[in-house]
Amino acid sequence: MNKLLETPVRYLKGVGPKKAKVISGLGINTIEDLLYYFPRRYEDRTNLSPISALKQGELQTVKARVLTKNERQSMRRRGFSILEVVVGDDSGKIFCVWFNQPYLADYFKPGIPLILYGKVESYAGRLQMSSPEFEILDGDSDDNLSSARIVPVYSLPAGITQRSWRQLVKQSLDECLPTMQDFLSYELRLRNGLLNLAKSIVNIHFPQDRELQQQAYQRLSFEEFFIFQLPLALRKSRRKEKDGIVHKIEEAAVADFIAHLPFELTAAQKNVLAEIKTDMASPRPMQRLLQGDVGSGKTVVATIASLIAVQAGYQVAFMVPTEILARQHYEKISRQMSRVRRENRLSNAESGTDSRRKKRLKVSLLTSSLEKKEKAQAYAQITAGKVDLVIGTHALLEEKVKFRKLSLVIIDEQHKFGVAQRALLPAKGTNPDVLIMTATPIPRTLAITLYGDLDISVINELPPGRLPVETILFNEEEMQRAYGLAKEQLKQGHQVYIIYPVIEESYALDIAGARKMYEELKSKEFKEFRLGLVHGRLKQKEQDRIMAGFKNREIDLLVSTTVLEVGIDIPSATCMLVAHAERFGLSQLHQLRGRIGRGSAKSFCILVSDSSTPESRRRLEAMVRYSDGFRIAEEDLRIRGPGEFFGSRQHGLSELRIGNPLSQMQLLKKAREEALKLVSADPNFELKQNEPVKRRLLTRFPEYQDLIMVG
Ligand code: ADP
Ligand code: MG
Repeated sequence: MNKLLETPVRYLKGVGPKKAKVISGLGINTIEDLLYYFPRRYEDRTNLSPISALKQGELQTVKARVLTKNERQSMRRRGFSILEVVVGDDSGKIFCVWFNQPYLADYFKPGIPLILYGKVESYAGRLQMSSPEFEILDGDSDDNLSSARIVPVYSLPAGITQRSWRQLVKQSLDECLPTMQDFLSYELRLRNGLLNLAKSIVNIHFPQDRELQQQAYQRLSFEEFFIFQLPLALRKSRRKEKDGIVHKIEEAAVADFIAHLPFELTAAQKNVLAEIKTDMASPRPMQRLLQGDVGSGKTVVATIASLIAVQAGYQVAFMVPTEILARQHYEKISRQMSRVRRENRLSNAESGTDSRRKKRLKVSLLTSSLEKKEKAQAYAQITAGKVDLVIGTHALLEEKVKFRKLSLVIIDEQHKFGVAQRALLPAKGTNPDVLIMTATPIPRTLAITLYGDLDISVINELPPGRLPVETILFNEEEMQRAYGLAKEQLKQGHQVYIIYPVIEESYALDIAGARKMYEELKSKEFKEFRLGLVHGRLKQKEQDRIMAGFKNREIDLLVSTTVLEVGIDIPSATCMLVAHAERFGLSQLHQLRGRIGRGSAKSFCILVSDSSTPESRRRLEAMVRYSDGFRIAEEDLRIRGPGEFFGSRQHGLSELRIGNPLSQMQLLKKAREEALKLVSADPNFELKQNEPVKRRLLTRFPEYQDLIMVG
């Protein structure tokens, strides 16, 4: 293959050992890495406007010379320095200011030409840019990479200038382009209307014009999606080959269980259940993602799946992210299962005793807060196969937890677990069925990208009779009104949550903490009511005791941090007040709000915030406007971008460097189809024509070596 691409960057001119080290901090080791390090943005320097033509309020690029500079200390804040540089061209001048960066002063020698980029504002009657990005054009080698064209701007660490980086990229392009081969075949490119690799790489760095830059962007995004989809496609095809467990479904027992629920399953729940039953009855291991908004009733579906596994004589592991949730599920599910009996197959097979004897199901709880002795006992019972269904937290992942015949793994609120953690539990069985549940629903196309190796089910309706939660936005001055609303709910015999972003108050950020507010509310505003306080720093036992107190209505108003976020189900709580609401993410607010509106009485979510940044306004207004989790997730994605939205724990979209699954859904779909096509035609990458794709895949994701070698 192309050896040049694999050359370490330190062989480039101008890269010594020190610089190579800084560069490797960007994850760049080879020339290929360097070429795949794309610009963060571009500046069109083909026709720069003169200063006199700058528009106020817009991000613009200016070419000028330094006229004067001036450093001073702020009069209002001690130890705060201001650097002011006046730059000008033939048409006028503009002031540039930087705060607390005195070391910048050395750059601005009077007379030196430079390019500035920033928002142009009018301040005290003059044009000003505050902390603009800048690039010194030091004249001696105006290399035509940095002016009079569309110029790339990269994210670079201090000490590497944009200009020197452009030189490195140029050098690499000159070396590699002549021999660069495209790993996407001509036919594939033709089918999808894609530019070839060499042309794309050149035009992503040094676009000839906007049109070509766009085409390069399309092509490189496609290729990224494609490479990203390949492992998912591979996993999906491998799964088909595995022998899973065929569950014999006891229809009568399932029907009986459903008939004794205090409600009728929704149509969506029935559909999903049918999908799960089909999967469980088939020899192919189930890998299903169940998406459903908060309160849509995922737990009962999972419970029925558990019942099927247990009735067929197997064990089930049900993992949830928090102790509170584990306990709640444990209590509810053991109650629901208490009337179920099953034939005692295990002792049947082993001792040949009474085959008519029916046994109660054994449901256990396993969390890290159990006493050592309790844990040891749980381990022993799980290993011996005496426990049918175990509900627990991460504690389930411990090595000592060994199942006798695990056939179903359920993972609730999967976004709280990392990918590696998710894989650990199924590994405790032999190709068990896996059901993953999430209440952070994401648009279907996106779900496919992120979980392309899973089948996806959606519960797209809420149980009937739920009144929508009314969401109200107040500012801090209206706190009394907010308390008033909460009080009204309490007087009607309902319960209330008040949520704070932190436990201890922060003077620096000027936010109230849960602990202090609890004391204050208890002695003033809500003194005629019974208050409780729960937060993550309390001992587990203490948290449980308080939650139980709230559930049993010994507590009317619960002051809490986000420990409440996930899954808590208390129907008589009808009001939630969220203080400093701007400090929460949109999906997080939606999760929090999902804690109310669970009963038949109307519920109120009161968001209190003084924040006026456009981003936080957008979030809070989205909360008022939308109640549908899919809508909210979409909005959240749009506001934060996929990287932030999925967070770093998710192996996945956060790793995309150029492709944007939201704005390029069509392209993403095509890339996925091509990946599936390739994998089904050549599941082990044996064809010579797929050699380059395999190489690119392993360059990008070396960890998939094993996945390809299996076969
Ligand atoms: P989530 O999808 O958020 O995990 P849960 O499973 O906690 O939702 O269900 C929320 C509440 O709705 C629970 O109290 C549950 O018993 C109840 N529920 C579930 N399915 C139905 C239904 N079909 N009709 C009425 N109530 C239901
Ligand atoms: Mg749930």
